[in-house]
Amino acid sequence: MSQEINSIQRIAQILKANATLPRPETVIRKLLTDSRTVIDPEGSLFFAVKAQRDGHEFISNAYESGIRNFVIAEPAYVQKYANANFLLVNDVLIALQTLATYNRKINDLKVIGVTGSNGKTIVKEWLYQLLASDFNIIRSPKSFNSQIGVPLSVWQIEPEHTLGIFEAGISKKGEMEALANIIAPTIGVLTNIGEAHAEGFENKTEKLTEKLKLFKDVELFVYAPEYVADLKEADLPGKTKFSWSTSQPADLHVSFIEPIEGKNYIRATYQDREIECLIPFSDKASVENGIICWATLLAMGYTPEEADLRLEKLTQVSMRLELINGIENCSIIDDSYSADISSLAIALDFLNLQNQHPKKTLILSDIYETGKNNEVLYTEISALLEQKNLNRLIGIGSNISAFADLFKIESSFYESTQAFIDELPGIHFANETILVKGARRFEFGRISKLLTQKIHDTVLEINLNALASNLQFYRSKLKPGVKVMAMVKAFSYGSGSFEIANLLQYQKVDYLAVAYADEGIALRKAGISLPIMVMSPEPSAFEAMVKHKLEPEIYNTSILKSFLNFLPEYEKDFPIHLKLDTGMHRLGFEKTDLPELLEVLKNNINIKVVSIFTHLVASDDAQHDGFTTHQVDEFSALYAQLTAVIGYKPIKHILNTSGITRWPDAQLDMVRIGIGLYGFDSALDHNAGLQTVAILKTTVTQVKELAAGETVGYSRKGILPSGGKIATVKIGYADGYNRNFGNGVGKMLINGKLVPTIGSICMDMCMLDITGLNVKTGDEVIVFNHEQTIVDLANQINTIPYEILTNISQRVKRVYFYE
Ligand SMILES: *Cc1c(COP(=O)(O)O)cnc(C)c1O
Repeated sequence: MSQEINSIQRIAQILKANATLPRPETVIRKLLTDSRTVIDPEGSLFFAVKAQRDGHEFISNAYESGIRNFVIAEPAYVQKYANANFLLVNDVLIALQTLATYNRKINDLKVIGVTGSNGKTIVKEWLYQLLASDFNIIRSPKSFNSQIGVPLSVWQIEPEHTLGIFEAGISKKGEMEALANIIAPTIGVLTNIGEAHAEGFENKTEKLTEKLKLFKDVELFVYAPEYVADLKEADLPGKTKFSWSTSQPADLHVSFIEPIEGKNYIRATYQDREIECLIPFSDKASVENGIICWATLLAMGYTPEEADLRLEKLTQVSMRLELINGIENCSIIDDSYSADISSLAIALDFLNLQNQHPKKTLILSDIYETGKNNEVLYTEISALLEQKNLNRLIGIGSNISAFADLFKIESSFYESTQAFIDELPGIHFANETILVKGARRFEFGRISKLLTQKIHDTVLEINLNALASNLQFYRSKLKPGVKVMAMVKAFSYGSGSFEIANLLQYQKVDYLAVAYADEGIALRKAGISLPIMVMSPEPSAFEAMVKHKLEPEIYNTSILKSFLNFLPEYEKDFPIHLKLDTGMHRLGFEKTDLPELLEVLKNNINIKVVSIFTHLVASDDAQHDGFTTHQVDEFSALYAQLTAVIGYKPIKHILNTSGITRWPDAQLDMVRIGIGLYGFDSALDHNAGLQTVAILKTTVTQVKELAAGETVGYSRKGILPSGGKIATVKIGYADGYNRNFGNGVGKMLINGKLVPTIGSICMDMCMLDITGLNVKTGDEVIVFNHEQTIVDLANQINTIPYEILTNISQRVKRVYFYE
């Protein structure tokens, strides 16, 4: 932001807010909408925006983190915190947008706006790579492209910036106008317009028209005619237009694309002559994104020769942070592609999500291209590291080393990546989470490799963003105030333990539930502080449960009595949960058990019933709706009977995943989400609205040509009558790939093609029939993903997705990522 508008008083004026300013001299450096990502509390202004949750709910958290400046819409808070600055407005989101718009107005710079259905973030990042040598660029961090992300990005424009690159994404009609005012692009770049995300719009034309509102005042518009074919030429924005196309005449008419050795060589006609470029990627989407960047460079006046030189050097944009098991019981977060302050803050937040190890270490390279002087920069980073409770810094590079004195935490410095690697054997790492974050030229990938354990080539990739999105999907169906218990039993349905629980804790679910005490103890040891219910509490684990505050599910009187016998006299109100059996006939109290139960509960002060629940047997199945209704009614009756005697009203809950989808009237006080978090819900049509969380991958270890009549595998079960080719892959029944998948029942994806198994599945391996395909040793093989789903696998061997997921054995490495 410009200095002109960074005082709290000036901001109050711009927002026309009703201001209460006990700290009138405050200077604001950062805007926040998330109380969990505080970097600089004194200089932060918290906007209580209504998003997934109402931001006002988090004011107390923000206050506890040291924040003293708030923009709010509910006046009551002003009284509550007398020593904090409050700006009272009608609509907090609009206030945030107004402030960003103002900052954009007073900074006169070139701004590239990017929108489209696909490729926005890649195109934005590539334009940044291509233009960074000529401009001091400010760009959206990661994919900050929403109604909240865009203003937060635009607020960061400072007078020394000479180019802004911002992306805008919308999900429904009417959203683009605000973003267009905030970004006010001078150059518009339209990326791929796919069929995706048509929900929220009447049709494709409406979606396109809405997107193009971003460009209403641009001087230059870069686009492909194919993507705007539904519109009249006269309706296209831009004083100047620059078109590119692979199929029709255009300013840049691509005539020839040839893949060579992992790259693509491209020829085109431009200004009546033939020009060329090399895009250093092989996949189709990258080629298109590369052409869009090529067109943008030419449209901005770069010569074809210069454009070609720059495009050749494009590098992969890492969109995700990976969490991998490392040496000496460490966890490694690999972010070795970029280093700038905003992405550092994001990576540190991810690091802070990890509570599994007592210590947090950052390996950081020099940071470039911030437009700040180094002293200011490293002072800010030092404050950031203290704020984020980092324990240790390893700085690599001559710049950061020169400012070693600024860092107050344990630190050591090395001149270069090589110097660090040479010393590595003598550096002590144990039981810590290590974030590896470096500018591209430092090649920190080498460091990550040395710190991570060799990965067994079969991995289960878990997309934490997708999991958070699925949680949000169900939350959006809940009535206000309904709590969420997340079921993380059986290693979170096979997806991991503390990694998932950490995310759920961060996303502020209310409760976790595990099957056995061991699982709960492991979560406590990994720093999970949420309340945890244990569904099968064994008497042998009572002591550990009480010590770790794990709350037992009590399902009959005898387990209740033995728990009470065990419970030390001084424990008061120890939380327990009562399970009622309304039809499952597995565990739980039935109607006839209540008198005896109540006898024990009555007047007992050592325990407190915090919740009462039952489980539906067929919440997903319309055929049994009558029975479900009966279960719900029976539950209500038993609950009434219990509470009449105990005299208070514990949390009541009944719905599992499919129940949330099909029985909105039975949400009661809380719901228990299980498989839905992982992307499956048999009550939804093809899991519509849910994202794929888990991808199981393996690799080809050998390829063999077989003659007619030869057989494959044990007992000669696999036969290729006319010969062919097979691939051996590194997954077997010991990894959880069931033997029933053998002999062609199961299929896997290699290079996008579905191929069947051949022969029996072995313990550690199996064979695929790849006759007619070009497959090499080392090729990636997908067992399941969003194309061949776990549901497909379940159907192949006649089971349910729950079993496919939970069968994946612990020796299959889990890799978590976060985009
Ligand atoms: C596993 C479980 C759930 C979650 O069921 P999903 O169908 O996976 O959502 C809910 N309640 C109880 C008691 C469970 O054991």
